[in-house]
Amino acid sequence: MADSVKISFAPFPATLEGFSVLLAASGAAGGRASLSAATEALVAPAGDLVERAGSTDRFDGKSGAILDLLAPAGLAVPRLLVVGVGKAPELRPLDWLTLGGTIMGKLPDTAGEVGILVDLPGAEAGAQAAAEVALGLRLRAYSFDRYKTKKKSEDSATKLRVTLYVKDEAAAKRAWRKREGIGEGVVIARDLVNEPANVLTPNEFARRAGDLAKVGVDVEVMGEKDLKKLGMGALLGVGQGSSEESQVVVMRWSGAKSDSAPVAFIGKGVVFDTGGISIKPAAGMEDMKGDMAGAACVVGLMHALARRKAKVNAVGVIGLVENMPDGKAQRPGDIVTSMSGQTIEIINTDAEGRLVLGDVLWYTKERFKPRFMVDLATLTGAIMVALGTENAGLFSNDDALAASLHEAGLDTGEKVWRMPLSPEYDKLIDSKFADMKNTGGRFGGSITAAQFLQRFVGSVPWAHLDIAGTGMSSPASEINRSWGAGWGVRLLDHLVARQYED
Ligand code: MN
Ligand code: ZN
Repeated sequence: MADSVKISFAPFPATLEGFSVLLAASGAAGGRASLSAATEALVAPAGDLVERAGSTDRFDGKSGAILDLLAPAGLAVPRLLVVGVGKAPELRPLDWLTLGGTIMGKLPDTAGEVGILVDLPGAEAGAQAAAEVALGLRLRAYSFDRYKTKKKSEDSATKLRVTLYVKDEAAAKRAWRKREGIGEGVVIARDLVNEPANVLTPNEFARRAGDLAKVGVDVEVMGEKDLKKLGMGALLGVGQGSSEESQVVVMRWSGAKSDSAPVAFIGKGVVFDTGGISIKPAAGMEDMKGDMAGAACVVGLMHALARRKAKVNAVGVIGLVENMPDGKAQRPGDIVTSMSGQTIEIINTDAEGRLVLGDVLWYTKERFKPRFMVDLATLTGAIMVALGTENAGLFSNDDALAASLHEAGLDTGEKVWRMPLSPEYDKLIDSKFADMKNTGGRFGGSITAAQFLQRFVGSVPWAHLDIAGTGMSSPASEINRSWGAGWGVRLLDHLVARQYED
């Protein structure tokens, strides 16, 4: 499989030439696979080849089934790949996206130029479907190899060109222009998550977020002097053991009327989490370079919204710190004052994400008076115990926002599952010495973390996504083979597109 792919669109050809991919549906009479009439006409010179090969190989057009034909007689193609997609009338956008990933996974490094005929019997294989396929191809082709000094050979790995043959070329190109920026956003998020912490310091992270200026996002970076002035004692306490300066980055996309309140996305950006003085065990600690996946998602999302010129005002705010043990590091038992004025007793310095987010949520609420706030954080190991890597944990003070996120999760495959909040859980973080403490004990660890955050959101509609299980160390899927999946970019872009644009 190639590392990158160049995508273009063209009208249906008169004859098949070059490496060709056809789509076949299941559910025809006799359990056979079926092609669309237009596709059928293109393979007609080969007689009933596809049917004969199909019955020999029991190819039924079910989703994921593949018929691979080399140098088929009668056709001027070196290779013909027939890809099953299942019951055509039931295909959703997510299925088309996944299909793109599946096809990409079947293309050998040496494929060079490939044509895909986006057409099916009994399905609306229109411009949107083709654009989803293209996005799936792009996402599957991603790999993070910038630190490999031995690259795969030039001519194979980097030069895959795919043409998607469609009925309406202009419409497909328009649809792809909307999707392309989403793909770029996911790639930006993946790159950030995969990057090691010696390279991606808070400063470097902020510099990369600054690149969003090129797509029309207004970016402000605040260093420790500014954060002290704002009174972000909770966030600053986390970073005080690191030699790297803590940063908060504010990104603004103004796509709607200036008087319309923004939607706000907040990300945890702990570029490396050793646990601090409450240091983590050695095994697997390298994964803590991904403790900034929430912030990475917010940067990727802001890119996506700007590139497709979303008709919305959106702010992204990320808190970037490194959590290190040091002579200057904060201790268990320390009491810090947050920007909200509320005091926090530090029980465990490894429960640092909520300290960062508490200040950033409060700041966002006070400054922007947003329509809603959604935060993303690799917050607790406990959420993986509860939900594994299939769903992110969703906590919310607003049923409508929670329902919208759940829907968007089903649409995009970036699924969320709602968890409870209640005064009984909230009590568990009351402290003997301060207004609250930063852990609520072993049981319900994800819930007490969310309760902590809720103390910083006031009455703003808010949702917290605990992405410890989905943001990094991601299981392989048809559209992702990378350690960092860029989880959440498509989910939140879709949330905005469905419901919050003018
Ligand atoms: Mn931690
Ligand atoms: Zn952490």
